Amino acid sequence: MESLVIKEDLMTNYLEEAKQKYKHLFGYVCTSVPLELLDAAGIMPIRLRGIEALDTSLADSVVSKYNCPYIRCVLNIALEGKFDYLSGLVVTNNCDHARRQYDIWSYKVVKDRKDFFLGYISTPHKVSDHAKKWMRDEYELFKKKLEEFVGHKITEEQIKASIKKFNAARSILWKLQELRSEEKPRLTAKEFYSASIAYTQIPIEKFLEHASDLLESAQTRKPIEKYRSRLMLAGSVIDSSQFFDIFEEYNSNVAMDELCFGVRTCDRLIDETGDPLKALSKFYFEECKCPKMMDDTFQRRLVDIKQNVEKYKLDGVVLQRIEFCDLHGIANAMLKHKLEEDYKIPVLSIDKEYLSGDIARLKTRIEAFLERIER
Ligand code: SF4
Repeated sequence: MESLVIKEDLMTNYLEEAKQKYKHLFGYVCTSVPLELLDAAGIMPIRLRGIEALDTSLADSVVSKYNCPYIRCVLNIALEGKFDYLSGLVVTNNCDHARRQYDIWSYKVVKDRKDFFLGYISTPHKVSDHAKKWMRDEYELFKKKLEEFVGHKITEEQIKASIKKFNAARSILWKLQELRSEEKPRLTAKEFYSASIAYTQIPIEKFLEHASDLLESAQTRKPIEKYRSRLMLAGSVIDSSQFFDIFEEYNSNVAMDELCFGVRTCDRLIDETGDPLKALSKFYFEECKCPKMMDDTFQRRLVDIKQNVEKYKLDGVVLQRIEFCDLHGIANAMLKHKLEEDYKIPVLSIDKEYLSGDIARLKTRIEAFLERIER
């Protein structure tokens, strides 16, 4: 039987179906947006990807070129009108580049659309009792704003049902992750990552169907016997599985990642009991492992990476940063120093373009690193 794969561009097949099923499709650019609140309101959340942008000429006329290229690509696609099927955008202040989307969309992209929902969730960057209350209050306000937009109440039961549904999707994703991180993996890193992107792109019920089929088919596959090395990939946003081709070309397995389109979406579940807004705040804010957090997050990430290197018997860590991503730039420099100096873990730290223009240069550096750590 032919192996199943989930294609990350499935949305092109499901757009019409999604429009029929959901009255509203909302875009978002950061993992801190509580998808369950949108789903409970009958809105389909879609994480915006910039990978289809051919250039950033339109975006460059409204923001400086020294801004995150992922964000500029998303903006370019929006300015071309290719996100016109959206009726809302939700932004958080994870970083300044992402936060500015709110202003630019309101002034330039949707200024003539009075019916467009622009949501902003203000997220503290340190966890404290005050901040936890702030976050819960912020979700309450966001819920009210959504209720006004859709014209009906969002009940606690509806939010809990959405949490359950998304938890089911996370659980399947995690099982797929386990298959790719086995010593003899039954799923490639690229397949896992495609599935993990699809989770953010297609109706959740469709994702559950596809992912369950993939899981069932992958469980009975012949494992991949030998890899030259096993790696972890971390750093800035990667919204296409194409980057994983480089590692597969060199027969190296990215057995684990720490990416916001990857493992960070599925490495834990949301509490299904008690106050659902508190549970969302715990998941999306208190446990957040994004370098935007200015508390002990760096230390938690460092320990997590080290433990995963040991648990999954990895040979090294690849840290990557896209141009002008200052958050990951600083975090990667600190991680490289600590992982190499304190834990003697080989690290490759690369700066790369968001689109694949510098792929040849990257391949040379990655190949040299793989030769160094080869088993
Ligand atoms: S990649 Fe970096 S700069 Fe771009 S949105 Fe993410 S955190 Fe911000």
